[in-house]
Amino acid sequence: MADYYELLGVGRDADADEIKRAYRRRARELHPDANPDDPGAEAQFKEVALAYETLSDPQRRQQYDQFGEAGPQAGNPFGGTGGLGDIFDMFFNGGSPFGGQATAPSGPPRGADLEVVVDLEFADAVFGVEAPVSVRTAVACDDCEATGAAPGTSPTTCPECGGAGQVRRVRQSILGQMVTAGPCNRCSGFGTVVASPCPTCRGEGRTVDDRTYTVDVPAGVDTGATLRLSGRGAVGPRGGGAGDLYVHVRVAPDERFVRHGDDLVHELHVPVTQASLGAQVPLGTLDGDELIDIEPGTQTGKVVRLRQKGVPHLQGRGRGDLLVQVIVDTPTDLTEEEAGLLNRLAELRGHDIAPPEGGFMSKLRSAFK
Ligand code: ZN
Repeated sequence: MADYYELLGVGRDADADEIKRAYRRRARELHPDANPDDPGAEAQFKEVALAYETLSDPQRRQQYDQFGEAGPQAGNPFGGTGGLGDIFDMFFNGGSPFGGQATAPSGPPRGADLEVVVDLEFADAVFGVEAPVSVRTAVACDDCEATGAAPGTSPTTCPECGGAGQVRRVRQSILGQMVTAGPCNRCSGFGTVVASPCPTCRGEGRTVDDRTYTVDVPAGVDTGATLRLSGRGAVGPRGGGAGDLYVHVRVAPDERFVRHGDDLVHELHVPVTQASLGAQVPLGTLDGDELIDIEPGTQTGKVVRLRQKGVPHLQGRGRGDLLVQVIVDTPTDLTEEEAGLLNRLAELRGHDIAPPEGGFMSKLRSAFK
């Protein structure tokens, strides 16, 4: 399928109005009523409609820009998989990420794989969650029970290939008789033909609908992970098996914690008094409140490690650590009394300090005294 922007004839930065105008123009040109003799126009008309449907919805447009034509919810349920080459199958080890692609030469083809993005809260990604995902997909047509034949009729065995879905052609060559097998032209490999197509699905045996599935997200996932829901993709035409649904994980950032693999890092600000004298400072972690030991004389940059308070390992047992990085804050907005105390401290430790008043030169003189 062509690029949606190209189908509409707009640039990738086109705004909503531009897209709407371009769609109206293209739809008029390609409308089946205006092109009764061109069967290609109807297919193009549908593609343009799908392109508009996707690009006119800001969220779906963003997903399309990110994932391309097989994009979440924007995927053409009847189309190919496109752009799935770099997906890795991290939770369903064994086998190709494309699963049990039918290799049989005859029978209805398997439906397309689809993709969708699931947005997770930070803590849900750490501990796992059951998350709903919605996808526009191809589902079996109820009216014809996916046969594609009008109610009251049924598909008949293809007279050309006798139901095999493929035909053998024999031809003479200088090496003798050559036999080649290929898909039957009459039934396109289905093995059956539909004399009167179902009006609901026009003989496809499937219709487009929205579905919501629940994804069991394992603890420890992070942005970039992909989960596969086997058989939750689009169904194939006329009773063909379903493709798979690929769920791309996107995790919201957290204000308090930054992930480094399975470790979490938190910057803990402590005042210079606690850093100097030592203290126990409360910290809300993902597992509840903890007391962090600040030893006397703690410097900025010191890391306190809380073992097993990080992110659970996806593979294997255990968790990462929570690394609490201490930042010592210098006090500001001192009251007169506080300033007096610090002056006294400076005096005791023999520290020269800037005079409370006076210009740059007096500070400089003071520094080199
Ligand atoms: Zn039908």
